[in-house]
Amino acid sequence: MIENEIKELRDLINKYSYNYYVLDNPLISDFEYDNLFKRLQKFEEDYPELVTADSPTQRVGGISSGFDEVKHKYRLYSLDNTYNEEELRKWYERVQKECPGKVELVCELKIDGLAIALTYHDGLFVQGVTRGDGIIGENITQNLKTVKAIPLRLFKNADVEVRGEIYMPKASFEKLNEESLRNGEKLFANPRNAAAGSLRQLDSTITAKRDLSMFTYTAIIEKSDYIPKTHWESLEYIKELGFKTNPNIRLVDDIEGAIAFCEEWKTKRFDLGYATDGVVIKVNRLDYQNELGFTSRAPKWATAFKFPPEEITTKLLDIELGVGKTGAVTPVAVLEPVNLAGSVVSRASLHNFDEIVRLDIRIGDRVLIKKAAEIIPKVIKVVDCPEHNNLAAYLPPKYCPECNSRLEVRDGEVNLYCTNEKCPSIIKAKLEYFASKEAMDIDFVGPSVIAQLYNLGMVRTPADFYRLTIEDLMKLDLVKEKSAANIYNSIQESVNRPLSRFITALSIRHVGKETADLLVGEFPNLKSLLSATAEDFAKIEGIGEKIANSVYEYFHTPENINLINDFISLGFEFNEESRIKTSELAGKTFVLTGTLESMTRDEASDKIKLMGGKTSSSVSKNTSYVVAGANPGSKLDKAEKLGVIILHEDEFLQLIGINK
Ligand code: NAD
Repeated sequence: MIENEIKELRDLINKYSYNYYVLDNPLISDFEYDNLFKRLQKFEEDYPELVTADSPTQRVGGISSGFDEVKHKYRLYSLDNTYNEEELRKWYERVQKECPGKVELVCELKIDGLAIALTYHDGLFVQGVTRGDGIIGENITQNLKTVKAIPLRLFKNADVEVRGEIYMPKASFEKLNEESLRNGEKLFANPRNAAAGSLRQLDSTITAKRDLSMFTYTAIIEKSDYIPKTHWESLEYIKELGFKTNPNIRLVDDIEGAIAFCEEWKTKRFDLGYATDGVVIKVNRLDYQNELGFTSRAPKWATAFKFPPEEITTKLLDIELGVGKTGAVTPVAVLEPVNLAGSVVSRASLHNFDEIVRLDIRIGDRVLIKKAAEIIPKVIKVVDCPEHNNLAAYLPPKYCPECNSRLEVRDGEVNLYCTNEKCPSIIKAKLEYFASKEAMDIDFVGPSVIAQLYNLGMVRTPADFYRLTIEDLMKLDLVKEKSAANIYNSIQESVNRPLSRFITALSIRHVGKETADLLVGEFPNLKSLLSATAEDFAKIEGIGEKIANSVYEYFHTPENINLINDFISLGFEFNEESRIKTSELAGKTFVLTGTLESMTRDEASDKIKLMGGKTSSSVSKNTSYVVAGANPGSKLDKAEKLGVIILHEDEFLQLIGINK
């Protein structure tokens, strides 16, 4: 019966809301919650006679606990959600029905935190209250006084109620969870829950220790020397009062501008230091806002555009073990496939064995997984459920899944390692890394080709790649003449890679791309690298004793010397000096940030080096140029601060002699 179905749905939503708002411990992802909520809304739309006053659709989320309750002077509302362009346009059409013509909008990021209302009398902070159910909230004034972004006295003697979102920066959230993990305490699912949990501490000295901040987005003015007429002006006014507002806002002419803003921030938000779950779009004129008014739970003059979800729950089917090039054995979660942020996810990273044990992750558990930007999804935590107790605890492996050697823990490290240098998994992982984009960048030579070449005994060391003939390659499964020629050509083409890539490709312990660049900067050919001492390496700025010893050891191990000689006998020159074609950029140091349209950052870096210049990963006063592509990172800010010359892509292309 429909009544029963609606009741079940309401009970479920109430249970999830309680865990989310009161316990700060969500049982499902926001996306799953929103779907249940939408289903209930749809039912109630179809059967309006079944809507009850206590239905979750009729009220604003939070429920209070533990603190004094305060009735809000002005009601706080939630926001209605939209998920795509079409829904945004529909909302705008509804707005235009009341306010015809072009209606200006303000686009703001939707900060994923906790809504609060702050009251000021004559410029003095007197009370801070959570949103609660919008009518009654919790008095958390003492705790809010510990948040530095909340002024205790305003720059003006106004009577105002200011509203904003308390949030915890992502880095502080990670740190807090790491600490909780160490102390065996409960983990927070996301920065929002961490912020809420920190604010709702009965002991405000605990809140004071948590890194909380606030972005303010609205003010209800009771007494002031100035009354804004638009939302944009009120944001300016809030700043003048002494509050922090979010800098990523935009005033647009109509819904097209708002759609563009949403599109832009779908990916740009991953570069921010705090969590956002969407964009809030508000009608700019305050007289229009008054005219449009509210529904029972949300303003009609605003809407939230929700970004595609980053988190979802699913079942952990198995834990597979992988052996990497260092011998580290890593656990990988095999999941019941779920759709997350536009792709089907069936595997996720599982930290290391220590964390599996500490998080008490068991095969068969329901787990919360998260995906941010292009980062591989990660298992965040086990979702509390009674079935967990009936599952067997996970025991970390004792032996290598590939060669059965005993696994070891290395000093000061959490990983388990296979120490058998001849372990086929380690050899294959090293070969894969050698051919990877980051290293020698050999197209068409991926894990499956390498596994076959290894199993057929054709490739044991990276030098063996260069001895392969087209006939050899045609022995591989599904490889015909054309693809054999492709593989062959891309291997041969890689002969011309710079020495720093070759050094990176060797999988020397502690040596990645940046260290390889530093080494080659001082020792531009293989001969000089082979004859340098550990002290010589340690003299290079940016290279410490540990790395220096590791490099020295590598170049003095007979097996590695044989490998290098093998490469030399195959005709590899690897002389960085002879590669340098001109000296136009001699003495100049470049830092690259953001995405370039015409080439990858690695290609740009190689071009700079061919012209005698150097590249570095960090900006300092010795940097000659910062090349800024699209969506540049914090390096651009630093360059601006230090007064370093900033080149946009077209200027950079001109400098290296490429005309667009
Ligand atoms: P909401 O978070 O979707 O939107 C309203 C809130 O947005 C406002 O109250 C305000 O605090 C905030 N906000 C952030 N930036 C803003 C800005 N610039 N301008 C105006 N407001 C801004 O709605 P809600 O009612 O707080 O919570 C409902 C949401 O909570 C659901 O959509 C769901 O995602 C989540 N939830 C999840 C669970 C779960 O179990 N996972 C349970 C309950 C609720």
